[in-house]
Amino acid sequence: MYRHRNRDGSDIALPVGKVVCVGRNYLDHIQELRNAVPETPVLFMKPATALAPLEEPIHLPAGQGRCHHEVELAVLIGQTLKQVDTATARGAVAGYGVALDLTLRDVQDGLKAKGLPWERAKAFDGSCPLSRFIAPTQLADPQHTPLALAVNGTIRQQGDTAQMMTGIVDLIAHISQSFTLSPGDVVLTGTPAGVGELQGGDDLLLSLGDWTIATRVADKLS
Ligand code: ZN
Repeated sequence: MYRHRNRDGSDIALPVGKVVCVGRNYLDHIQELRNAVPETPVLFMKPATALAPLEEPIHLPAGQGRCHHEVELAVLIGQTLKQVDTATARGAVAGYGVALDLTLRDVQDGLKAKGLPWERAKAFDGSCPLSRFIAPTQLADPQHTPLALAVNGTIRQQGDTAQMMTGIVDLIAHISQSFTLSPGDVVLTGTPAGVGELQGGDDLLLSLGDWTIATRVADKLS
């Protein structure tokens, strides 16, 4: 069962809420999927039931085609944010973590082709493995921090949060114009290039700055 925790394993006294995500926020990832550059951030959500502890084996859905990894900087929200400015957004960050935005790419491609919503591809149970959190002060410059994912010892994704087209606090403020963010909600900030398929038994190493987190994909599909 997922709950918000500090890096040392202690509980964070915030409820587990929704996850608001941005698609197409790193130009190199937009280009690899041949998507158009959006004029405004592309937003979607995952429910609280999508969250799973990143440190535990990751369960991929069976029989639904390719499941892609997208490594992302995750932001834990500590205050209610409704139609706020960037200064208020900055003050509401309770922590930073690393998430995988798991994506059933074949399902998503099929939905996109039909002009249908993406939830079946993005919001399924366990679709958001999420790390523990570090305090905002523990990241020297959240908007200029390397972010990477290695699979079985090979670097797949290697970016820097400086590559975001809409930066962290601008994104939070923008989201809050449409969706009130509540304490314990999480914002995912998009993925750099290099997304690819995960397989049962893969060993993963995620990194944010000098913080590295090892995990693996469960052998058996669920
Ligand atoms: Zn994503």
